[in-house]
Amino acid sequence: MRAHWYTGIVTGIHELAPQVRSFTLEIPEVDRFEFKAGQFVTFDLPVSEKRINRWRSYSIASPPDQGNKIELCIVHFEGGIGSSYFFNEINLGSELKFKGPEGGFILPEVLDHDLVMICTGTGIAPFRSMLLDIKQRGVGHQGLHLIFGTRKQEDILYREEWSSLERELPGFRFDIALSREFPGPDWASHMHQGYVHPVYQKAYTPYRPDVHFYLCGWTKMIDEAIANLFAGMRYPREQIHYELYG
Ligand SMILES: Cc1cc2nc3c(=O)[nH]c(=O)nc-3n(C[C@H](O)[C@H](O)[C@H](O)COP(=O)(O)OP(=O)(O)OC[C@H]3O[C@@H](n4cnc5c(N)ncnc54)[C@H](O)[C@@H]3O)c2cc1C
Repeated sequence: MRAHWYTGIVTGIHELAPQVRSFTLEIPEVDRFEFKAGQFVTFDLPVSEKRINRWRSYSIASPPDQGNKIELCIVHFEGGIGSSYFFNEINLGSELKFKGPEGGFILPEVLDHDLVMICTGTGIAPFRSMLLDIKQRGVGHQGLHLIFGTRKQEDILYREEWSSLERELPGFRFDIALSREFPGPDWASHMHQGYVHPVYQKAYTPYRPDVHFYLCGWTKMIDEAIANLFAGMRYPREQIHYELYG
């Protein structure tokens, strides 16, 4: 089946961290844009003659109940063609052509095991969608553990939301690993110095059959996490799920 291409109008742009912005898109041709939390959309950006060079995918960072609006969370890569287009050319009212939703990185229908969500940077996008979806629909669940890695405190995405969610969503907890800054005293209980890996290694050793790991981000983190979980900590592949950004 040929993909349907939508036109989204940019109705919101917000600075989330240095070099990270959220973009809200409204899709006027539908009342409700249907997708499952964790899925992504793919843009055809006018950055090249060749179609193959124009497509860039972005996870939907908002939950599915926002009518015809979706939110994205995009990091600007120095020299990156697609992300530079978003940061330099896109303004309120800009139109963007996209297809989707796509992707199987979604929550199971029944959450009968603990979910550990491990991500770095904008890899947090699908997890924000999933967690807000669980909260808003009142989905029954077991433990929900978000482990987010970034460089410095100023790069922590949706910082206030995780504290609120910890109060409002039973069973939810979060940890933040800062690779280039020592955590301040205010968030001491959530903060760790270094990468995400020691955080889940400590929390989920020895092996637990009731835990599933969801990983999202770039190759280096995902490869290392899979190696740790699979070879090091003896978690079988069925308990490891991932979305690779590139
Ligand atoms: C399913 C899916 C969902 C995605 N969701 C998101 C999302 O929600 N938010 C988001 O910001 N991105 C997301 N991405 C990544 C996004 O599609 C682009 O790849 C990203 O924006 C870079 O594109 P670019 O055109 O700016 O860089 P390009 O011009 O395509 O490439 C720049 C080069 O630098 C490399 N590169 C750039 N930055 C890094 C980095 N930090 N680490 C390693 N290599 C790097 C790229 O691999 C590439 O080789 C997703 C990708 C996929 C496949």
